[in-house]
Amino acid sequence: MVKIYVLRLGHRPKRDKRVTTHVGLVARTFGADRFVLVGSDSKVISGLNSVSNRWGDGKFEAESIKDGKKYVNEWKKSGGFVVHLTMYGLNISNFDMEKIKNKDLLVVVGAEKVEPWYYENADYNIAVANQPHSEVSALAIFLDRYYQGKELDKEYISKLSIKPMKKGKYVTVIPDELECIDLLKNEKADDKLLQHSEAVYKLAIEIGRKANANLKLITAGALLHDIGKTKVKGLDHGYVGAEILRRKRINEEIAKIAERHIGAGLTKEEIIKNRLNIPKKDYIPRTLEEKIVAEADNLINGSKKVNIEKTIESYKKEGLNNSAERILKLHEELSKKCKIDLNKIDSNNFK
Ligand code: SAM
Repeated sequence: MVKIYVLRLGHRPKRDKRVTTHVGLVARTFGADRFVLVGSDSKVISGLNSVSNRWGDGKFEAESIKDGKKYVNEWKKSGGFVVHLTMYGLNISNFDMEKIKNKDLLVVVGAEKVEPWYYENADYNIAVANQPHSEVSALAIFLDRYYQGKELDKEYISKLSIKPMKKGKYVTVIPDELECIDLLKNEKADDKLLQHSEAVYKLAIEIGRKANANLKLITAGALLHDIGKTKVKGLDHGYVGAEILRRKRINEEIAKIAERHIGAGLTKEEIIKNRLNIPKKDYIPRTLEEKIVAEADNLINGSKKVNIEKTIESYKKEGLNNSAERILKLHEELSKKCKIDLNKIDSNNFK
């Protein structure tokens, strides 16, 4: 995969803080991998990195460097293209983007006057209309043309996400470990529930690492999977828990983990057969993280690790034969993915 970095020249800390921050925000949202500021402004850099961590996966980073020319030279030496955005350049409408698609790309934008050296040393000087406007708009339009709009559909698994609304604001959150414990305590979870949640969390993280799953989702999903037990004790506690989480504007992926964690999930027929007073639909784990939390829960009894056979036996005793079969299948599927029989993950190795 080629990488795209944005190099910001000429930043004047006293007057450009906001514009430079906006160049960085545009770089991130419109698909660049990194923002490089020539000169130092720790407030701008930390602000951008904080946005990346809260609203994204943190992979986009902002950094400061001293020497822009050296940076451009090294970029070219390592085989990348350099595009300088300027109103004096070739009009973007006549520029064939395919020319720059197969190599890493450094996009240079200025503030006030840009030194002639950059015009000379850029592979391409490109104008977004040969009229003066702004580095923010020029960068956004350039990146949008480069990606042909696809960058706008990128989905993030992030601490904060927006649920688009016709009116008003709706932001959901993925809570961290401490926030999850607080949530459980606020719902008056007892010690037994807290210890069980902690044990499932530790095991789920172990499995998640082996399966290369998203550990932020696993952390919150595992710690909160039984929050519904603070209200009901039956098979409906998964759904009840999910509804508690939705009311608290917890990320929908976490709510789904709670909703689908019972055994290896419940089918619509089982909801009807067991006369559960919850919406009649399937509650089967679909995502990797949903499957892992269900499996970890199946391997923990109270707060102790057990073999999957013990859990299967207890489901069979209650006449839940189909569920028992699904639990075994899920165990085999994840054991295969993790390249280890998950019965053999040792509780003493929990970190
Ligand atoms: N005379 C400057 C120039 O070189 O375009 C204008 C300075 S402008 C305030 C700051 C930056 O915005 C420029 O360095 C350039 O990167 C960008 N910019 C402004 N107008 C542009 C345009 N029409 N096309 C591409 N970039 C533009």
